[in-house]
Amino acid sequence: MPRLFDTQSSEIVEIAPRVEGQFSMYVCGPTVYDEPHLGHGRFTLVYDILRRYLRYRGFEVRFVSNITDVDDKIIARAGELQIKPEDLAKNYEEVWWDLMERLAVQRPDETPHATDWIDQMLEMVAGMVASGAAYETSDGIYLEVAKVDGYGLLARQNLAELRSGARVEVDEQKKSPLDFALWKRTSEEEWGWNSPFGFGRPGWHTECVAMALGILGEGFDLHGGGMDLAFPHHENERAQAVAMHRSFARHWMHNGFVMVGDEKMSKSLGNFTTLKELLDSTDPRAYRLLVARSHYRSPLEVTAEILQDASRSLERIDAFARRFADVVTQRSDVVLNKVVIDGFNDAMDEDLNSPVGLSRVFEAITRANFAQDRGHVEEAVSNAKAALLLLSTLGIVVQDRLEVPEEVMVLAKQRKAARADRDFAAADRYRDEILRLGYVVEDSESGFRFKRA
Ligand SMILES: [Zn+2]
Repeated sequence: MPRLFDTQSSEIVEIAPRVEGQFSMYVCGPTVYDEPHLGHGRFTLVYDILRRYLRYRGFEVRFVSNITDVDDKIIARAGELQIKPEDLAKNYEEVWWDLMERLAVQRPDETPHATDWIDQMLEMVAGMVASGAAYETSDGIYLEVAKVDGYGLLARQNLAELRSGARVEVDEQKKSPLDFALWKRTSEEEWGWNSPFGFGRPGWHTECVAMALGILGEGFDLHGGGMDLAFPHHENERAQAVAMHRSFARHWMHNGFVMVGDEKMSKSLGNFTTLKELLDSTDPRAYRLLVARSHYRSPLEVTAEILQDASRSLERIDAFARRFADVVTQRSDVVLNKVVIDGFNDAMDEDLNSPVGLSRVFEAITRANFAQDRGHVEEAVSNAKAALLLLSTLGIVVQDRLEVPEEVMVLAKQRKAARADRDFAAADRYRDEILRLGYVVEDSESGFRFKRA
């Protein structure tokens, strides 16, 4: 059974799912108001790797990740640009999915949008008001965190400590600075919905609770997100579930920051580099490899040199994949190397240790190449097969066919036709021309393939 570091117990625990063989996870998705940055790229890759790994281990995974399409930031940005907030959210959601595709992040099974869940949120808020856990001020409905058992669990601080550290706000109607809005009342000129609590919109923390419980039900297996979401966002999600006497996530997982130099990557610190800029300038697989090479809870450093190094590792992976593409299909009788698979599984089972898992893959690649050089085909193929399976488990798509210019492809087809006509002189001329363009063409089972000359 895989184990993960659970933020609420602060230790690595077995994550046995509530229903045997079925794993339910909810990950806070993006607030679509701007270009995603590297931190977004990281969290989405971490949970994509977890999801792929659990599936590979035989779990049926149900993965829900929301789109926050109503938020103060969306409204503010739309105001600046003088467009409708709905349109801004729609545009940036498209940007998001486009980037996810480039990163080879698989779509969640469900991607609820906050604006489709307003009724359910209002029902929750009404329940919390009725039970006395929430109260009304002139600008909205607030949850009284003092009434929530164990508030501070995810922040790893108790209520008194949190209160003394909280920013003193001007809002004197709030009973505590830690109390947070479930429903924000706004003027009717703003974007909002009618409700028993006045015209307004939901608080961010309320959105995820409605969607997670609404789709996955009580006691779902894992709630994840970036480390910066543990407090207050996740703390406040949990607080609402406690206030409603409903069981929430059984485990909590948080991934580390992206660092540029020594600083956390975030827009407010001014070191904002967009994910698009990165993917435009580098093979998107390099970022995935970088994420997999670091433990998910550690800070991830991104520099041009580190990305280049990852690109070199990818070249090595691709060269290996090209070398073994045909032989692996031909030798379907050879079984996966058990030592490689077990080494990988052991690492990944222990708090998703992908850096160690990946090093097992690279060892297998080295052994496969070494054995193949010596003509030990069985050993080569069993290592190669294992490495290829594990690379795909990490979501690293190998390029086992060298991409060539159209011109080269046309010549290769002409050469093939010439050979079929037994016109070997013509076939040799085509081969020489291909060589002049920098490629070597080789015949293979499935037709032909290329190498760099
Ligand atoms: Zn959330």
